[in-house]
Amino acid sequence: MSEIAFRGVHKRYNKTDVIHGVDMDIAAGEFIVILGPSGCGKSTLLRMIAGLEGITGGEIAIGGRVVNTLEPRERGCAMVFQNYALYPHMSVAQNIGYALRVAGVGRSERDAKVRDVAKAVGLDAFLDRKPGELSGGQRQRVAMARAMVREPKVFLFDEPFSNLDAKLRVAMRAEVRNLHRRLGVTSVFVTHDQTEAMTLADRLVIMNGGRVEQIGTPSEVYDHP
Ligand code: ADP
Ligand code: ADP
Repeated sequence: MSEIAFRGVHKRYNKTDVIHGVDMDIAAGEFIVILGPSGCGKSTLLRMIAGLEGITGGEIAIGGRVVNTLEPRERGCAMVFQNYALYPHMSVAQNIGYALRVAGVGRSERDAKVRDVAKAVGLDAFLDRKPGELSGGQRQRVAMARAMVREPKVFLFDEPFSNLDAKLRVAMRAEVRNLHRRLGVTSVFVTHDQTEAMTLADRLVIMNGGRVEQIGTPSEVYDHP
C-alpha cells in the first residue's frame, strides 16, 4: 500500500491553476525527490501534503487516510525548510523540544527525546546555544532534529540546503540519507538541483509547469529518456 497517494490533485491560487491533476503513489520507506525549475509547483505540492496549503481539487491520502481536511499536526508529517524557521530567542534544546512542550509532553520525557535527536544529528554539545551562535549547517541540523523529535512517519524537505555552501551541501545530503534509513521514514525532498536529486532519490519526480512529466529511478529517468 502506498504511504502517500495523490489522486487528481489540483491547485489554484486566486484564478491561476498551478497544479494540473497530479496522480502519484509514494511507497512507505521511499526517498522521493521532486525536481523541476523554479515556479513549476514543487513547493506547492509539498505544502499540500503538509497541510500548509489547501487542495483545490482531488485527494491526498497519507497512510490510507484522506487528509484534505486534516490539520497539519494531524498528518504525521514534519517539514524542514530552507530558512530553518528557528525561534531566535530560544536555545537549541528549547527549539527542538518546543512542539513536544506544546503537545503537553512532560519535562523528563522531553529532555530524553531532545537529547536523543540532538545526538543523532551531532548537536549534543550545542543544546544551550542560541540559533544566532550556530553555523548554517548547525542551524539546519537543529531544524532536522526539531522535525525528528515528533517521530513523524513522513519527512518533507523544501530545498533545505540551498543556503549552504557546496561542501556542506554534499555532507548534509549524506546525513539526510542516513537518517532516512535509520528512522525508516518516508521522505519527500524538493530541489531544483539535478545533482542533489540524483544523489538522494530512490525515485525522481520530474515536474514542469504544474504537471508531473516523469517518475522513475535516477537511471530510468536519465539513462532511458
Ligand atoms: P516551485 O516550488 O517549483 O518554485 P511553487 O510551488 O512555489 O513552485 O509555485 C508554483 C506557482 O504558484 C508559481 O507560479 C508561483 O508564482 C505560484 N504561487 C506560489 N505560491 C503562491 C501564492 N501564495 N499565491 C499565489 N501564487 C502562488
Ligand atoms: P521550559 O521551562 O519552558 O521547559 P527549558 O529551557 O527549561 O524551558 O527547556 C525547554 C526544553 O529544552 C525542554 O524540553 C528541556 O527538556 C530541553 N532542554 C533545555 N536545556 C537542555 C539541556 N541542556 N539538555 C537537554 N535538554 C534541554
